[in-house]
Amino acid sequence: MRVLVTGGAGFIGSHVVDALVGRGDEVHIVDDLSNGKRHNVPAEATLHVYDIREPLDGIVDAAAPDRVVHFAAQADVRVSVAKPAFDATVNVAGTANVLEAARQTGARVVFASTGGAIYGECTRPAREDDPCLPLSPYGAAKLAGEGYLGAFGRLYGTPHIALRFGNVYGPRQDPHGEAGVVAIFLGRLLEGEECRIFGDGSQSRDYVYVGDVVRATLAALDSDTEGVLNIGTGVPTSVLELYAVCREVTGSDLEAVHEAARPGELGRSVLDGEHTAATLGFRPEVSLAEGVAATWDWLRAGS
Ligand code: NAD
Repeated sequence: MRVLVTGGAGFIGSHVVDALVGRGDEVHIVDDLSNGKRHNVPAEATLHVYDIREPLDGIVDAAAPDRVVHFAAQADVRVSVAKPAFDATVNVAGTANVLEAARQTGARVVFASTGGAIYGECTRPAREDDPCLPLSPYGAAKLAGEGYLGAFGRLYGTPHIALRFGNVYGPRQDPHGEAGVVAIFLGRLLEGEECRIFGDGSQSRDYVYVGDVVRATLAALDSDTEGVLNIGTGVPTSVLELYAVCREVTGSDLEAVHEAARPGELGRSVLDGEHTAATLGFRPEVSLAEGVAATWDWLRAGS
């Protein structure tokens, strides 16, 4: 298969690229390297350093994709709050450009959406047909992206699926970034520095290991299932519980420092994966302790 992966130099996208290359697919990557890293890209893949805010016509001619994995995004919620119009140019207008590109070859599109930023506060694991109440421009833009996928499907018959990821973590996540609490905690523990917990640490998230997300993405790419699917574990983990796992894995006895709660932060976000299991045959397999240990090994090896 010929696969075009946008955002393929980034954290999750590069793991998907590795898996596609590993099974013998021809892979073209579109990434402007605004957050992605050239060294994440395997030699077997072709990297086009390009901004999805511009039409992708020339790249489609070169890549002639059968499938498109659309993972390029402005992926930082706080940037979206500070610069909502910029976020929309990448995450909405950019998605329209990618869909226009896919239309030219009739490629099936797999889109990275978000569960954490779309459903809002969860009193139980969120299901795909629950109301969407994004609390940020980022969540609103991802929801708009899902809308564009549906519209292109109805207008042109573009085959598509949107995957609503939980909190993805694993090797290659930036330990110095603003998002990605697993990498941030482990990075600080590696340096012997205190970790900061905002509020009382009871806020919980659905942490899903990047290797599981790759399996889900390939299953979605190969299937003909349409629509929207949650990719999460169904298990809420509080920040305090996560910190305890990180201390256990690293052997650290450092206490975390508590700082003021951040305004607007969700108390609980967790995804119901039953519809995904039934339609795609996918369930996450990596436990939090295993995934944190794999991330720790990667960090200790020098990232
Ligand atoms: P990432 O920032 O590592 O990857 C995004 C990639 O897109 C980067 O390599 C970046 O350079 C590239 N990019 C950004 N703007 C671009 C542009 N204008 N043109 C071309 N390339 C551009 O983030 P990630 O965590 O790997 O996220 C991958 C996808 O999954 C994103 O769509 C993100 O919104 C989504 N997602 C991530 C999580 C998570 O927990 N990490 C959760 C839900 C959804």
